[in-house]
Amino acid sequence: MSTTWLADQVNWREVWIGAGAASGSAALTVGSVGSGRPVALVAAGVHGDEGPWGAWAIRRLLERLPARWLAGSLRLLPVANPLAMAADARCAPLDGLDLNRSFPGREDGSHTEMLAAAIVREALAGVDAVIDLHGGGSWCINAFCHDFRGGHDLTQAIAAPFTVDADGRGMGPVSLTTHARTQGARVTAVEMGGRGSTEAQWADRIADGLLRALAVVGVVAPDRAPAPGGSSVPVGPTRVLRPRTGGVFLPDLREDAIGTIVRGGTQLGRLVHPGTFAVVETFVAPFAQTALLLLRPTVAALAAGDMTYVVAEPAG
Ligand SMILES: [Zn+2]
Repeated sequence: MSTTWLADQVNWREVWIGAGAASGSAALTVGSVGSGRPVALVAAGVHGDEGPWGAWAIRRLLERLPARWLAGSLRLLPVANPLAMAADARCAPLDGLDLNRSFPGREDGSHTEMLAAAIVREALAGVDAVIDLHGGGSWCINAFCHDFRGGHDLTQAIAAPFTVDADGRGMGPVSLTTHARTQGARVTAVEMGGRGSTEAQWADRIADGLLRALAVVGVVAPDRAPAPGGSSVPVGPTRVLRPRTGGVFLPDLREDAIGTIVRGGTQLGRLVHPGTFAVVETFVAPFAQTALLLLRPTVAALAAGDMTYVVAEPAG
């Protein structure tokens, strides 16, 4: 008997969101498959520059998931912020608003506010769980997961190298996940992978995590749950390292260092003058044990204050 894969069963539809003068509106692609409870939503690309990598992980999931394994309903939002993706930017250039600070949105608002309202209306209604794929994008690679109260099992199922306590951030219900939680959903937010020579392995690793998480929710029959993905190291509050001036960034650690712990004082990268290459600033590991949650793996032109590393200390 040949296998029918979930990738061939998804019903894709377009929801039109008011946009710019030339195009008038932009299409938000919403996928759905299965019926009944429980209902899970997997989203990617809420931030446009992170989008294609998360969408790819969703596709890898659909290609390996036999349709008969589905036990409830799965909703998919692979390009949650289409105009931001088109601009390879965090936010849609039309209004510059951060979609992940715009929930629950406004039907009579600006483009990003209308987009948030459409996501609430078309994708979030009645969901039991939300898995939001962030991180890993066009300029950085990441290796962690946000651990929310009530969503711990989901976060553990993803099995990122590191987990960060999301409740400690004190964010109001303005992001996709924090808003969904006020509606009673279990949530997790994944920050893994990104552009580079290992991007396919990260996409597969995220797809494995998604499959385990969907089994936890019960959207994939629980007896189909794949083997545990290994344990994740919990870390304390994160610290962002940013250059104090603009310049050219030269990495010392490359993409194979993401998700590892390095000794304090390890040289991570340098900021140099764009013409003379004189070293202006050196980035070093600030903690005795420094967990590398986000890094820039390649040469880049940076402005003062650009996010360059996210680091933390292992907890406990
Ligand atoms: Zn993001």
